[in-house]
Amino acid sequence: MPSDIDIAIIGAGAAGLAAGIFAAETNPNLSIALLDSAKTIGAKILVSGGGRCNVTNQRITASDFHGNRKLIDRILRRFDEQATVRWFSSLGVPLKTEATGKLFPMSNKARTVLDGLLRRCETLGVLLLTHHLVRDITRDDKGFLIQHSQGTLRAKRVILATGGRSLPKTGSDGSGWGLAQQLGHTVTTPYPALVPLLLEPSFFHTTLSGISHDVTLTTTVAGKTSDRCTGSLLWTHFGISGPVVLDASRVWVRATAQGEAVRLHLHCLPHLSNQDVEKWLMQAASLPGRKLVPTLLGERLPTRVATRLADIQEPALSDTPVNLLSKEARRNLVRMLTNFELPVIGSRGWNFAEVTAGGVPLEEISARSMGSRQMPGLYVIGEMLDCDGRIGGFNFQWAWATGYLAGCHAALNIMTQPAAKDGE
Ligand SMILES: Cc1cc2nc3c(=O)[nH]c(=O)nc-3n(C[C@H](O)[C@H](O)[C@H](O)COP(=O)(O)OP(=O)(O)OC[C@H]3O[C@@H](n4cnc5c(N)ncnc54)[C@H](O)[C@@H]3O)c2cc1C
Repeated sequence: MPSDIDIAIIGAGAAGLAAGIFAAETNPNLSIALLDSAKTIGAKILVSGGGRCNVTNQRITASDFHGNRKLIDRILRRFDEQATVRWFSSLGVPLKTEATGKLFPMSNKARTVLDGLLRRCETLGVLLLTHHLVRDITRDDKGFLIQHSQGTLRAKRVILATGGRSLPKTGSDGSGWGLAQQLGHTVTTPYPALVPLLLEPSFFHTTLSGISHDVTLTTTVAGKTSDRCTGSLLWTHFGISGPVVLDASRVWVRATAQGEAVRLHLHCLPHLSNQDVEKWLMQAASLPGRKLVPTLLGERLPTRVATRLADIQEPALSDTPVNLLSKEARRNLVRMLTNFELPVIGSRGWNFAEVTAGGVPLEEISARSMGSRQMPGLYVIGEMLDCDGRIGGFNFQWAWATGYLAGCHAALNIMTQPAAKDGE
């Protein structure tokens, strides 16, 4: 391995691999190496999207992300979802769009995505150095000196792509932020996002484990509505998961970490207002026959959920015919169906979080090139930045887009600026 190279990319996850490929395509004469602490590359890509890798989404806007949306918008415009589709097709990985708007590889296998990226790296001569944990990076007038677990390496440009802290067993353990700090950056407090939530153990969720249905979740912080999202909720043995919970988790985790009073309310019939639900119950009560409450609820909810919700009313409504509901019991039932507080006691933490919120502030990075405003010749990309997307392929799009910008600009910058220029 050479001890002197043009571009060193620290971290060979989605963002690092994209940066390596785009840098080499911009200038095939450059020597480019990806250094990664892991024994094998791409563990996170392989587990993503339930093993299918949700590569991007058919419609991506800055409002799908948390962070400085003005800067996020500028970055995403430079490499959008159509560019991702074209790029993957050029890698021999055609994508297909599902009804949800998510794009997956035609093969339905995340392995195809990883193989496509690795194949292109190999063709372009991008060096992949596994088992290379980078511990220290310093800058002098000759460029960057990188200390890693196998020795040292000099590079003219450095792209930091070490990810966040989610799923640390894949190698993304947050150590990369120390490198960014060493090179003059700040890091906002990271916390797990897109993470399942734990419920009070005595709550009824264990009896519903494995059932999913559409709901609306409303998060209030200090009494004010802070977030509302609709989608599929999955009841589990520990609490709740599924897309809508993962999306809602960010606000809950952050507010809790900041010591704020946060509450999560469940609306089980997301497309009906309180009045609609009340009307539905009254209409059912006016019909002939003696339909029981769980049977009626079961027309719009999974049977076990319907039974459980009827059971936990005070008094229990399991054997109550709808037409014998008192006004008060009906009102209580409407409240439970539309505004039921879930006893959340925590999140499943970093080992189960799909993404990291917080990181290097986008204001410290040029949105044109992903170049550092603090350190000439340095670029910062992917999940280590203070930007995180909702569920649906948005986080990978962020990795591809930031990797594209940094890869192209680092390569161009070496060609046009012998000495790295500030704020590039
Ligand atoms: C279970 C799961 C499922 C997901 N599914 C999806 C999905 O379907 N769609 C989607 O859009 N997003 C998904 N995500 C999120 C997405 O995977 C990440 O946002 C994305 O992979 C981030 O890419 P990255 O390159 O910035 O960081 P990472 O992929 O985390 O890569 C960082 C790399 O840096 C290396 N590294 C860290 N520190 C050092 C160091 N000091 N020295 C050397 N190397 C280092 C790590 O080993 C790692 O390989 C999922 C995440 C998880 C955990």
